[in-house]
Amino acid sequence: MVAFSEIPDRIKRLEELAYNLWWSWHPEARALFEILDHPLWKKTHHNPVKILRDVSSERLKAVSGDPGFLRRYDGVIKSYDQHIGEKETWYRRRFPDLTDQPIAYFSAEFGLHNSLPIYSGGLGLLAGDHCKEAGEIGLPLIGIGFLYPQGYFHQRIEADGWQEAVYRPLDVDQVGIKPVLSPESGRLLVEVPVGQRTVTITVWQVQVGRVCLYLMDTDVEENAPWDRELSARLYGGNQELRIRQEIVLGIGGVRLLRALDIQPTVWHANEGHSAFLMLERIREGVASGKSFEAAAEGVRRTTIFTTHTPVPAGHDAFPPHLIEKYFSSYRKGLGLDQEKFWALGRHQEDWGEAFNMSVLAFHLSDRHNAVSRMHGEVTRQMWQSLWPEMEKEALPITSITNGIHVPTWVAPELNLLFRRYITPDWVNQHDDSFIWQRVFDIPDHLLWETHQQLKRKLFAIIRERARISWAQDRSDPVQILAAGTLLNPEALTIGFARRFTAYKRATLIFQDLGRLKRLLGDLWRPVQLIFAGKAHPADEVGKHHLQQIYRLAKDSGMEGHIAFVENYDMHVAHFLVQGVDLWLNTPRAPHEASGTSGMKAGLNGVPQLGILDGWWCEGYNGSNGWTFGTPADRSQEMASDEAQDLADAEGLYRVLEKEVVPLYYTRDTDGIPRGWIQTMKESIRTTTPTFSARRMVKEYAEGLYAPAAIKERPLKT
Ligand SMILES: *Cc1c(COP(=O)(O)O)cnc(C)c1O
Repeated sequence: MVAFSEIPDRIKRLEELAYNLWWSWHPEARALFEILDHPLWKKTHHNPVKILRDVSSERLKAVSGDPGFLRRYDGVIKSYDQHIGEKETWYRRRFPDLTDQPIAYFSAEFGLHNSLPIYSGGLGLLAGDHCKEAGEIGLPLIGIGFLYPQGYFHQRIEADGWQEAVYRPLDVDQVGIKPVLSPESGRLLVEVPVGQRTVTITVWQVQVGRVCLYLMDTDVEENAPWDRELSARLYGGNQELRIRQEIVLGIGGVRLLRALDIQPTVWHANEGHSAFLMLERIREGVASGKSFEAAAEGVRRTTIFTTHTPVPAGHDAFPPHLIEKYFSSYRKGLGLDQEKFWALGRHQEDWGEAFNMSVLAFHLSDRHNAVSRMHGEVTRQMWQSLWPEMEKEALPITSITNGIHVPTWVAPELNLLFRRYITPDWVNQHDDSFIWQRVFDIPDHLLWETHQQLKRKLFAIIRERARISWAQDRSDPVQILAAGTLLNPEALTIGFARRFTAYKRATLIFQDLGRLKRLLGDLWRPVQLIFAGKAHPADEVGKHHLQQIYRLAKDSGMEGHIAFVENYDMHVAHFLVQGVDLWLNTPRAPHEASGTSGMKAGLNGVPQLGILDGWWCEGYNGSNGWTFGTPADRSQEMASDEAQDLADAEGLYRVLEKEVVPLYYTRDTDGIPRGWIQTMKESIRTTTPTFSARRMVKEYAEGLYAPAAIKERPLKT
C-alpha cells in the first residue's frame, strides 16, 4: 500500500480530488485517474482512493513529469477550484438571504458511488443525486446518514437460482471517506440514548462537490458488542434492530449536528426512517422551557417530509412493546404520557395497531410531498384518515417528481455528441428544455453509431464479469451462459434492472412462455432480455421471482436469449441504462411511486416501454417510448391482481410484436433504423431537462425549503 505521502508535490492534489466525489461526474477528472493506471481503474471499478493506494510510486513519478498528464491535471484542478469557490450560484441569485441557512437532509441510505455500498436502491440513489445537484446549484445542504461498515449485501446466485447474500466488510482506507475529528480529543464521539442504554457514535465525512455528508457509525470500542453491531448493515435484521437504527439516525443525527455546531434552519426527512429527528428537536425545545405544543409548532414549521412509497409495508411501523421499551423514559423529556406519545404515530396496520413512522412524520411537519403527480394522488388517498375533516383533494400533500443527476448518468460518449450538437456548455444548462430541440440536429448515423458503441461496451462488461467468475472456478458452465455470454450484439436488447419485489413484476413478460419464445427466437428479428437486481434478503417472493428468471436464463429452451447479470449496483446500472435498446418497466399500478431507472435510460436515448404509473404518467408523450396495460388511474377497475397481470401481459406482448420490434428492424439502405432513432431523440429531448435532479432540487428549494426558511427567520423590527 502506497502512503499518500509518496505522491509527488506537483500532483499532490490528486488526493484531494480522490476524496471529493466531484471527480465522479466530471469526465476530465475521471480520465485523469483512468490514465494514471488503466488496469487499476478497471480492477477497482473506478475507485480513485484505491488507485492512489495501489499505484506504484514509479508510475506516480512518471506522470508527474509527463507534460500531457500535467496539462490535464492543471485543467481539472482549475475547474475543481472554480466549482468549490463559486459564489454566483443559482441559489444565491434566487435567495440571497438564505445562503447561510443550512438545510439538513436526513436519509437512511445514499447512493453516491458504487465504492460506497450504503444504498439498496431507488431511495438511496435519489438521495445521492439530490445531494450532488444541491451542491451544484449552491444549496447550503448537509447530509446525515449511516456508514454501515458491512454495507448492503453483495449478491451471489447459486446454480439453482437462489440468491445468497454475502456481506463484505468495508475497508475504510480504500474509499473516499474521512473520520471527523473533534477539536479536543481525536475522533468525534457523540452519545445517543437508545432505550435504557447510551450508544456512542463516531462520524465519517464524505465530500460531494460542495455538499458534505456526515455518516454515523456505532462500531466503536466504547460500545458493547450488541451496540457496535447496530449500524453494521443497511436493512439487515429485525424490527428491534430497525427501531434502534432509526433512533440513532433521527435522534443521533440531531445530536451530531449540535456537536458540530451546525444549526440548520430547515430539516428534511427523506422517507419516514429519520422521523425521530422531529422528537429530538421538540425535546430540545421542551428542555429550554417551552410547552410541548409550542416546541412542536416550531419544529413543524421548519420540517419537510418526503414519502416515497404507496406500498403499506414500505412504511415502518413498530408494535407497542418496542415503543414502550425504547421511549418510556425518553417521552418524559417531551412532557408526554404514554397515551399522548402513542397518538403521535398511532396507525392501524394489517397486523395490529402500531406506531407508524410516516404518521409521526406527517404529524410533526407542515410540508409533505410525494414523488410524482400520480404518487401524490395515491398518497392523499392513502393517508386521508389523518385529516378526517378535509376533502381528499385539499390534503396538504404536494408532489415533486423525482429526477436524476444528469452528469452522473449520461454516457461519456453521448456527452461528446451533446457538446457538439446541443451546445458546448449543455451540462450547465441541461434543465432548459429549449436547448434540447437541437437533439434533432444530431445526424442519425452518429447517434446510432454511438449507441452501438455503448451496447458493445455493455456486452464487453457482461462477458468480463462472466470470465472472472469462470476463472475463479466458482460457476458451473451453464451459469456462465446465464450470465449473458451468448448475447447477440445485433439483436433488439431489452433491459430490466431493479429491486426484485412483488409489485415490480419482473416475471410479467413470462406469463405466456410460448409467445415469448416466438418473440425471442425470431430468426430475422431476434429479441433478447437482460435482467439484473437484488431481492431484499427477507423478501421470499422477490427471491422466488428472481429464481424463476434465473432458471429460464439457464434453460436451453430459451436459447441463450435471456441473461441475468449478478450483483446489480450503480456500476452495472450505468452500463445497462446506457447500453440496452429498450427499458422495460412493468409495475403493478399504482404501486410505483416514481421510478428513476427509466429516466436514466431515457437520457441516454434508450426509450422506455412502461406501464402508465409513477413518473411515466408525466414522462410519456406518445412519441418518446411506449406504454401498455392498466394505467394507474384505472387500476381500481381491475377485478384482481391476477386479472391485472393477465391483461397487462397481453398488452405487453402486443406492443412488442406490433410496434417495438417492427420499428427497431425497419432499416434504410444504410442499415439505419430511422424511425427508431426518432424515438431515441424524442426520449432524450423530453427526459433530460424535465426529469433532471436540477429541476427537482430547484422545486424543493422554491416550493419547500425557502418558504420554510423564510418563515423561520425573525421578523425585522
Ligand atoms: C436508479 C437505480 C435504482 C432505482 O431504479 P427504479 O427504476 O426506481 O426501480 C435502483 N438501483 C440502482 C443501482 C439504480 O441505479
